[in-house]
Amino acid sequence: MTVPNSFLQLVHSVADPDATPSLSASEWIARANCLGVDPALFFPGQGESTKEAKEVCTGCTVRVECLEYAIETGERFGIWGGKSERERRRMRGDRRRAERQLPAPTPLVVVPATAIEHEQDEQRGGCDVGFH
Ligand code: SF4
Repeated sequence: MTVPNSFLQLVHSVADPDATPSLSASEWIARANCLGVDPALFFPGQGESTKEAKEVCTGCTVRVECLEYAIETGERFGIWGGKSERERRRMRGDRRRAERQLPAPTPLVVVPATAIEHEQDEQRGGCDVGFH
């Protein structure tokens, strides 16, 4: 992958200003904490650390806009809004599930049969299985 000279160039090269109607691309790009930072930092190779890029994002005031842009446009590479490709993929999945109104998976609770029997005995007014 060719890395542009500046992250700003990169953002402009892929940004669709209409993709973020709440805040124009030019507005959030102008406030980006990563302006002037080596763009290679945001596109680490496989197995390389994302820590430094995420640190830059941590102090960024347009982190939400940046992340939203990347999610909405399906940006597949790099760190955007402090999130990696994998993290954004997970977020997109969560959103799709939420849009379909599927409940989040819940942990399975196993109730021992003896506890159920005890509860039924209690409701009948007495326990004759030795709990008391
Ligand atoms: S959140 Fe990170 S990648 Fe996005 S504009 Fe801010 S510093 Fe740059």
